[in-house]
Amino acid sequence: MTHYDVIVIGLGGMGSAAAYRLAQRGQRVLGIDQFAPVHNLGSSHGGSRITRQAYLEGPDYVPLLLRAHELWDEVERDTGRHLFTRCGGLMAGPPDSRTITGSVLSAEKFDIPHELLDAAEIRRRFPTVAPRDDEVALYEPGAGFVSPEGSVAAHLQLAARHGAELHHEEQVFTWSTSESGVRVGTTSSYYTASRLVLCPGAWAPSLLADLGVDFEVQRQVQYWFEPADAAPFAADRHPVYLWETEQGDQFYGFPAHSPQGVKVASHYAGTPCTADTIDRRVHDDEVRAITRLVGSRLPKLGTFRRAATCLYTNTPDEDFVIAQHPAHPRLVVACGFSGHGFKFVPVVGEIVADLVVDGSTTHPIALFDPARFDPAGFDER
Ligand SMILES: Cc1cc2nc3c(=O)[nH]c(=O)nc-3n(C[C@H](O)[C@H](O)[C@H](O)COP(=O)(O)OP(=O)(O)OC[C@H]3O[C@@H](n4cnc5c(N)ncnc54)[C@H](O)[C@@H]3O)c2cc1C
Repeated sequence: MTHYDVIVIGLGGMGSAAAYRLAQRGQRVLGIDQFAPVHNLGSSHGGSRITRQAYLEGPDYVPLLLRAHELWDEVERDTGRHLFTRCGGLMAGPPDSRTITGSVLSAEKFDIPHELLDAAEIRRRFPTVAPRDDEVALYEPGAGFVSPEGSVAAHLQLAARHGAELHHEEQVFTWSTSESGVRVGTTSSYYTASRLVLCPGAWAPSLLADLGVDFEVQRQVQYWFEPADAAPFAADRHPVYLWETEQGDQFYGFPAHSPQGVKVASHYAGTPCTADTIDRRVHDDEVRAITRLVGSRLPKLGTFRRAATCLYTNTPDEDFVIAQHPAHPRLVVACGFSGHGFKFVPVVGEIVADLVVDGSTTHPIALFDPARFDPAGFDER
């Protein structure tokens, strides 16, 4: 039986990048996923994911985003695939909203190129967008969107090019670690390795029950609309946007980037579920609610065409978990991406490879330590 250096469980957004970076560093890698490559049953599908660097979620994320944007370009070069569309990004809302204050804080701290626009200037530059008179925006010209399906395909392609063995449609039902190695049981076989990486997405609650993180998996919906006049929604004229209303709702959307139309979604309207029991149907009242919410600021969005569900895996503070497992030194975990992980995919791959191969990383990841949820650890600090 082959003994691997490392087994990566989950080959979605994060696991595909981890498998690639590990193989690139000379590790003998086995990657395993329960579904076919580039599927739509997890968190990494729907054609587009916003990326931006004036990060309203906190300046601690910005160094990782600076590196991620370099790596998106590198993966594009190495595969010849177009993954990243830099159409610019508009973060809009009341001047004192977190969307504005958080974006400005990160932009100023790290000198991220940006402009502050008042409502009249937003209307002038982006004729599809209708802010309230008291709303403002931070415009980030280097923001845009990446392709989740393209990213998974590119990273799997690079992993295979560097010798990784990739098994799809094979479900892991058990894993264990010991002082001498790790063992993984799947629907087809048992495998052994020196180390283990788990990137299970929304399956974290079952595969990582002893991590001590109270994950909440949420059902989310992505919606596509067809404007009567699509021209002003083209990616060379229209930014990605993230909008916070005075009620604290947050919605976001994209330029038209596929024949399916213009995609929009709400960031907060998720309902708790599990990855295996999620309701995949989208209901009329949900379509009415998103039409009302987004239509209040994008009145020319047009006719609803289709919708698709997706999964968030939230941690209690919505910061990620990327670390060596506290109870299993041979296991590195990358999970709990809380609905904002995709833009980090290539740098997460690099961090996981550092943790597995070197035992540490120079990237700032203290924020992602699962010990922050451990009450005993908290008392000691
Ligand atoms: C609607 C929506 C919009 C989003 N928008 C953005 C955005 O604009 N910007 C942004 O940065 N992020 C965004 N995100 C978040 C981002 O997409 C996720 O953080 C990211 O995709 C998570 O990747 P992952 O690898 O953790 O999960 P996944 O890609 O789902 O991968 C997990 C993999 O593990 C596999 N797996 C699980 N259990 C097993 C098992 N037992 N055996 C074998 N395989 C297993 C699964 O099959 C799956 O392939 C959005 C997410 C959603 C749902």
